[in-house]
Amino acid sequence: MFDSLKKAFGSKGAKPEPGVNGPPVSAPVPVEPAGERLADKYPQVAKIGVNLSIRAPFEKIEPTVRGFSMGMDSMANFTFRCKNTECVDGGFDLTEEIDHMISEYETSKHGRRVCQGWDGKSNVGHQRCYYELNFIINIGYK
Ligand SMILES: [Zn+2]
Repeated sequence: MFDSLKKAFGSKGAKPEPGVNGPPVSAPVPVEPAGERLADKYPQVAKIGVNLSIRAPFEKIEPTVRGFSMGMDSMANFTFRCKNTECVDGGFDLTEEIDHMISEYETSKHGRRVCQGWDGKSNVGHQRCYYELNFIINIGYK
């Protein structure tokens, strides 16, 4: 099976692939930095403040709250990493939440998200991470 593939694709005198032996392919287009600046995306917004706390499932102790304000020059990216160091494909995305708030001119909102990643590599496919994010978002408008 593999021998016949080698014969088909690896033999000398085969038609050269573009960019390998043949004519150069066009240069790759530089990738724009992901997302856009907050000031460009939300010109009506003056400031965005976010308070976050992330805790393990069934953890009784209230975790410390991390609060910060986003400068309007920063990228409009509201994804946050999961605190579970074993987490696979998890994390929290508040982009839609904030998008919706701004479209409704809401100034404050709190809510909760549960991580839908997997609780470690060996648990992929059967045990979700379920770390919990509690958030408070405050938005000031111009
Ligand atoms: Zn997670």
